[in-house]
Amino acid sequence: MTLNIGVIGTGAIGREHIKRITNTLSGGKIVAVTDVNQESAKQAVEQYGLDAAVYPDDVSLVAANDVDAVFVTSWGPAHEASVLAAIAAGKYVFCEKPLATTAEGCMRIVEAEMKHGKRLVQVGFMRRYDSGYVQLKEAIDNKFIGEPLLIHCAHRNPEVNEMYTTDMAISDTLVHEIDVLHWLVDDDYKSVQVLFPRKSKYAHDNLRDPQIVILETHSGIIINVEISVNCQYGYDIQCEVVGEDGIVKLPEFQSITYRKNATLGSNILVDWKQRFLDAYDAELQDFMDSIKTTGEPNGPTAWDGYIAQVTADACVKSQQSGGKEEVVLADKPDFYKKGLETASL
Ligand code: NAP
Repeated sequence: MTLNIGVIGTGAIGREHIKRITNTLSGGKIVAVTDVNQESAKQAVEQYGLDAAVYPDDVSLVAANDVDAVFVTSWGPAHEASVLAAIAAGKYVFCEKPLATTAEGCMRIVEAEMKHGKRLVQVGFMRRYDSGYVQLKEAIDNKFIGEPLLIHCAHRNPEVNEMYTTDMAISDTLVHEIDVLHWLVDDDYKSVQVLFPRKSKYAHDNLRDPQIVILETHSGIIINVEISVNCQYGYDIQCEVVGEDGIVKLPEFQSITYRKNATLGSNILVDWKQRFLDAYDAELQDFMDSIKTTGEPNGPTAWDGYIAQVTADACVKSQQSGGKEEVVLADKPDFYKKGLETASL
């Protein structure tokens, strides 16, 4: 069975996903596209030689009879309406982060999905499909390092433009750590605090950079995440878990080492798209395969989208208050306890 997919939003990541469905992965076909910029949607059809209809908006695309599943890859504020429309039509949805830009919006999606009665939604938290994080998860689950106590992380980008604001360090950047770290230790966050060290000379006037985010889980694990979005040297993701019996660390992205001009070195990526290339492939293949085999997507749930948004909101509150902020989640519904939330490669 081929899963017929409609794509809402043919910008950067929308096109990346169209490309991987069309050229790399198996079991899916892009049959419909839309974008507020209709020219962009038409260009995407041409660029990838798609046999796909261009729809004027998300509602008409979702309603199309030949669309089985929808990819929501438009800008964040438009996600909630498209996801709700897809659920109302009983169609599967792969939604890029954020699921919605407010906790209330995420909860509306959670409630709509529960009312529908089976899982339809997967959120694009692709790090759960990265082989390095999967190995960390296996080590933690198998008690290889005993109970986890501390996690040190860094999320560094070479530079950002003037449009990038201080709160985007949370909503666009930290959000991937927020998701993958609670999944890694199978624990929810209790509180968060954001600290601002000395500002980098590369940060533009309206941006506080770097930032340190401290997250504490209910079992007492303390996590610190450095976010530096003007580090200059490359795109660099670090994660080291300190346990009672040892330490496990995310592998470096593979690169040859070289000896040249009295230097022993290896290259660091600059483009974020390259770092999680395999994980993007794996998340979408899993989305299609699990729908085919179980009738439901298997990856990060709408509830995970809700957790990420509530935690991100608390971080933004802490950026403003300077203090520790509680992360207050609703009780997890049984509906989301049954899911297989662990990716396997
Ligand atoms: P982008 O290049 O700006 O693409 C978004 C596209 O959606 C643009 O063509 C935009 O048109 C269009 N659009 C906006 N509102 C729409 C609507 N209501 N209906 C249909 N199309 C609409 O952004 P992007 O980098 O691809 O990001 C898209 C989403 O993916 C964002 O939510 C982002 O956070 C997420 N993302 C996730 C990852 C990840 O690592 N998982 C990476 C990158 C992005 P206009 O340009 O005319 O507004």
